[in-house]
Amino acid sequence: MKLLLQAISRYFNGMDVNRDAFVHLLQSESESVKAFVYPPHCLLCRTPLDESEGLCPGCWESLGIISGPRCGRCGCPGLSRPCTNCADKDYVFSRLFALTAFSRAVQRMVHMMKYQGQTAACQSLGRALGRMLEGESLAEPRPVVVPVPLHGSRLRERGYNQSALIARSLARELELSVEDRALRRVRATETQTNLDSAKRGANMQGAFVVRQRDLVSQRRVLLVDDVVTTGATANACAAALLEASASEVDVAAVACPYFDAEEPDDKVVAAGNDLFI
Ligand SMILES: [Zn+2]
Ligand SMILES: [Zn+2]
Repeated sequence: MKLLLQAISRYFNGMDVNRDAFVHLLQSESESVKAFVYPPHCLLCRTPLDESEGLCPGCWESLGIISGPRCGRCGCPGLSRPCTNCADKDYVFSRLFALTAFSRAVQRMVHMMKYQGQTAACQSLGRALGRMLEGESLAEPRPVVVPVPLHGSRLRERGYNQSALIARSLARELELSVEDRALRRVRATETQTNLDSAKRGANMQGAFVVRQRDLVSQRRVLLVDDVVTTGATANACAAALLEASASEVDVAAVACPYFDAEEPDDKVVAAGNDLFI
């Protein structure tokens, strides 16, 4: 689009027309031109869509968005007592809200977000997560949204932090503010794929620091990550935030492979482990 505008701008240069007004008109139309050139389609099945909602109704359905009663600690669907999903978890954050358990469809979306540069997937899932949280009682005072940061080397490699994009869409939906510079990942951690829960915890210890205490001190924080598995990453971030005097930390994530879900699918969870880095 920029090149096209430059070419048109050169063409009109010297002609008796209001060139700046013309270029401005083109710029203001650029979104609709973009929609014309790249009409919205479902990110999963490529069905053309009327609006850019990311997915068609059938694919939204296939994500298995959690609704109804859920555990007040780990957010898994249902209200079994005690919750077999989180009974042995050592969470330092208060509550976890996940949009979905780990369906194959969400596994594909996470892959798009992390490895295929599909930032539209982050935006769609962030919006959906925000809408889901509207139904949850996020107690007053309203929390500040903090994404889990990537280490600088991975950020340079990927070009964006998928959790920050999810966090921004979620925050826009809930009219919350985002502090994406509150946390810093000071250690490039080993890949978590082949580590068990205890080793993941040790691997993450001290991996995050709060870079500006006043952004989180005495405030409630809604920490946003793409996927929560054992909770080791979320725990390490929450520990740093609480140490910096955050009053409470809740966690929101696109997916968590709840083992207590109604229809656990261990194969999907096992395949999903490849994504948890
Ligand atoms: Zn679809
Ligand atoms: Zn639970």
